[in-house]
Amino acid sequence: MESNFIRDYDRPEKRVFKLVSKRKETENVMSFFFEPADKMFKFKPGHFVNISFKNDTDNLGNRSFSIANSPTEENLMLTIKKVGSFTTKIFEADIGEEFVVLGPLGLPYIKDESEKVDYVFIAGGSGIVPFRSILYYSKDTNFKNKMYLFYSNRTEEDIIYKEELKKLKEEMENFVLIETLTREEKEGYEKGRINADMLKKYLDSFENKKYIICGPKGLVTGSIEMLKELNVDIKNIKTESWGN
Ligand SMILES: Cc1cc2nc3c(=O)[nH]c(=O)nc-3n(C[C@H](O)[C@H](O)[C@H](O)COP(=O)(O)OP(=O)(O)OC[C@H]3O[C@@H](n4cnc5c(N)ncnc54)[C@H](O)[C@@H]3O)c2cc1C
Repeated sequence: MESNFIRDYDRPEKRVFKLVSKRKETENVMSFFFEPADKMFKFKPGHFVNISFKNDTDNLGNRSFSIANSPTEENLMLTIKKVGSFTTKIFEADIGEEFVVLGPLGLPYIKDESEKVDYVFIAGGSGIVPFRSILYYSKDTNFKNKMYLFYSNRTEEDIIYKEELKKLKEEMENFVLIETLTREEKEGYEKGRINADMLKKYLDSFENKKYIICGPKGLVTGSIEMLKELNVDIKNIKTESWGN
């Protein structure tokens, strides 16, 4: 398949989805796999959905979650960190439970697939979710642009998609994975928060690159400041953040 980050995706609509399986990622993070009652909508990496329980007995309303799967994979996958009321309830949901999903929402992370730029992804914790979608899409569509992923976690046990990322790194020549741990020292990992020295160690230059940052607010604001000090033009930086 040739690379085709084309701009065809559906308009957001409410659709019913059924939970078909769950996969534990870390102690407090789980992936959820849903099947559409009708048919899957078209989306791009970077899109998110608003989801609510179809039978919303606790009046929890809806929450936003990035789409974790690539459009080249089947159906809908969300990866959720348990932090509060909604996420606790969805962790306990039974297989077969129905949900109302509004999507695709937001904008694709990569707008122009023909651009000859490198991509630098900066992720913290559950901020990795949309990058999973981009990476599998890139692999499946033979997207050639170089992709660097700087991924920060407290400990090795907190790494979401640990095995998948390792495999992607082996399979994709154009993918460079740099993982860092802030609360433990381990072979194969950088130590501490993502910083300018870490970027300089792996990037040949800061030019001709698009930067996408996703994670907690502190990581996002800190990364923007760091990139500005490295003279990266703000128009080449895209951010998404949730949590504290
Ligand atoms: C565009 C977008 C995409 C998102 N994608 C994802 C995703 O892919 N996976 C995901 O897990 N969440 C994602 N979120 C966050 C999600 O929408 C909810 O805010 C979150 O799951 C909290 O829901 P809750 O009802 O369980 O907690 P609430 O009861 O609403 O909040 C409980 C407390 O947890 C804090 N909190 C919220 N999120 C986090 C977090 N991630 N880490 C630590 N503390 C937090 C809140 O500030 C609050 O104090 C996304 C948010 C947006 C806007």
